[in-house]
Amino acid sequence: MTAAAKSLDNPIPPNSQLAQGHLLGIEGLNPLEIAYLLDKAEGYVDHNRQVDKKLDLLKGRTQINLFYENSTRTRASFELAGKRMGADVINMAVEGSSIKKGETLIDTAMTLNAMQPDILVVRHDQSGAVNLLAQKVDGAVINGGDGSHEHPTQALLDALTIRRRKGTLAGLTVAICGDIAHSRVARSNIHLLNIMGARVRLIGPPTLVPKSFERMGLEVHHDMRKGLKNVDIVMMLRLQMERMQGSYVPSTNEYFHFWGLDYEKLSAAKPDALIMHPGPMNRGVEIATDVADDIDRSAIREQVEMGVAVRMACLEVLCDQRQPR
Ligand code: ASP
Repeated sequence: MTAAAKSLDNPIPPNSQLAQGHLLGIEGLNPLEIAYLLDKAEGYVDHNRQVDKKLDLLKGRTQINLFYENSTRTRASFELAGKRMGADVINMAVEGSSIKKGETLIDTAMTLNAMQPDILVVRHDQSGAVNLLAQKVDGAVINGGDGSHEHPTQALLDALTIRRRKGTLAGLTVAICGDIAHSRVARSNIHLLNIMGARVRLIGPPTLVPKSFERMGLEVHHDMRKGLKNVDIVMMLRLQMERMQGSYVPSTNEYFHFWGLDYEKLSAAKPDALIMHPGPMNRGVEIATDVADDIDRSAIREQVEMGVAVRMACLEVLCDQRQPR
């Protein structure tokens, strides 16, 4: 066990992925570990609203962001987080790298590993690719989203947003709506919300809600109005066309009619239900513009803000696990 793992206020068990210095998924974390990451992140929210945002907690550390899939929020957020913590950060995009010349994931990982990075943030279109990479490199690995498997920092930033607005996660009813089949955001959130004692409802067309979720005992609805009844949180998901082979929905117009969030469907939820979306949004497909931009109900911009604080916390905790300051 590392010195950091032994400290009294640190709840990370020695066999945890965090103790190995990785954040590969929410599955397997315990409630205390999640609360610990959220508490740390909470401390960075006000800090990030100050003019001077620079810290030196990760001074001398090198962070490489290796993104095999497009990203706006996650990559910018990890870059800002690393820089605000004082690390040297570089972004490796697939365009313009040897990956385009046919280099394998593991060869790329070993090449980068030889440059002694302390942290690798990896996004890949194949589920499981980030776990595989973590076994091959010496530094800390953070999953920035792998296929339809997990996107742990998204679930943590969603949890921080909810906790700040509602005071708690336990006991809330959260509806996750839309393209659940292709969503790593949904999977990470299902794990986190279950671990933290919230109730999860999945709502979407039968083609986009895998039967395996029902078999896991999750409450599934195929009707938005029924599914949204009295929920505290409405989490909308993007229709992930790029992961679909074949046709899952008749047309985007029809999809919006049945599954798109508008005020009429939202009226089934609690009057103070919070609206969330991980982005990027398809306005008029899974969410109406006026609902997305409702400053009283929508937490979508806040989710982005919480993303930086959560990623700063994750970088700090993982670096501490590997090499206590
Ligand atoms: N940005 C999220 C992800 O990378 C959600 C999405 O793309 O729809 O999974």
